Amino acid sequence: MTAPRPPRRLPALEPWKHPAGPGGLPVSPTRWRGALATQPVQPTARAPEGHVLLFSLDALDRGTAARAGRLHTAHGEVQTPAFMPVGTQGTVKSLAPDELVGADCDILLGNTYHLYLRPGVDVVRHMGGLHRFMDWPRAILTDSGGFQVMSLTELTRVREEGVEFRSHLDGSRHLLSPERAMQIQDGLGTDIAMSFDQLVRLPAPIEQVRDAVDRTVRWAERGLAERARLRETGGGAMALFGINQGGTDAIERARCFAQLGAMPFDGFALGGLWVGEGRELGLDMVERDCGEFPADKPRYLMGVGHPVDVIEAVARGVDMMDCVLPTRNARRGTVFISTGRLVVRNAAYAQDERPLDPDCDCSTCRRYTRAYLRHLFVSGELLGMRLASVHAVHHMVALMRRARAAIVAGRYAEFRTEFLDRFDSRETLATASA
Ligand SMILES: [Zn+2]
Repeated sequence: MTAPRPPRRLPALEPWKHPAGPGGLPVSPTRWRGALATQPVQPTARAPEGHVLLFSLDALDRGTAARAGRLHTAHGEVQTPAFMPVGTQGTVKSLAPDELVGADCDILLGNTYHLYLRPGVDVVRHMGGLHRFMDWPRAILTDSGGFQVMSLTELTRVREEGVEFRSHLDGSRHLLSPERAMQIQDGLGTDIAMSFDQLVRLPAPIEQVRDAVDRTVRWAERGLAERARLRETGGGAMALFGINQGGTDAIERARCFAQLGAMPFDGFALGGLWVGEGRELGLDMVERDCGEFPADKPRYLMGVGHPVDVIEAVARGVDMMDCVLPTRNARRGTVFISTGRLVVRNAAYAQDERPLDPDCDCSTCRRYTRAYLRHLFVSGELLGMRLASVHAVHHMVALMRRARAAIVAGRYAEFRTEFLDRFDSRETLATASA
């Protein structure tokens, strides 16, 4: 007889610690670079009682609507503008958390739909939440699952109660509702949850867009009520962002925000954009929304990750963005560099001794040549995907850091012009996808 095995102990995650700054705000002097700008600065936003997210603005650009701010989460500070790599299934594909930390990434996005189906929220909760499950010490934002339900599953049925769908994995039937979306995100232990909204595939008749706006507003109220209920039972310790809808109809977007803006959300997202409408129209809607969103709350543009779009959105007042584009492209052998887009397996690089991007200081660019990366991709070696992904995340985070420094210096307009002049990619607007 052998003695029963003691239960396995999980190794403790290293807690995230900040020295407290003035007013009890966490301050990280090593990560906060650059002096404050001389232009007028908004007073520090105070979160209402019980809220877990604080947002403060450090600088407003002089020549554009760009802002430099900081989100203070339970898992550290997020410098904005911020690009969030997408960790769809509890991993940013091919990258370990220390590689993301090495890229100075403050925050990732997790997909509620995927994690709900597999491994399931009960498993993640049992394992101590998503941070611990994937060993990620910094902030996490989760989407509500709505976008994936609408884009990945067939046989979806939208009812007032929620969206009924069949799993793309095994065909099983599920209902995702505003309440369920809050419960799942709470179970994952996210820092920032997203409201459950209704999307409309564009182009769509205006009546359909109107209906989706009305339902999005009703669902937003239900999500907030569910978070309040979770808080009464000791949960719900997450920030919650409302999502503005209305497609590319300026009147509908304004009508949606007239109602959402009156609700006690911790931040607001621009939804239903970058779904094929074209860059110019998309940016018009961004400018419109940001003109109405409150200055003291973070603004998140969903599904945008092309460097040009990111730089233009920041100029219009966006603080946060996410997209699979940079990392997905990288796994397929195409990376963004400071001068545009580079197709790694191109024969022209067979004996190229330069790094992917001579201006990048990521570990891939510091150590490897284009010739070696090309060889890895041509040979189908896994390391190629990983090294290209390291560069992709680092490149986007570094781009945001440079943008932030330009805002703080009050010269974002010049920075944008310099960036666009160098970036010669003639790609059309990239479509957001899961
Ligand atoms: Zn690099």
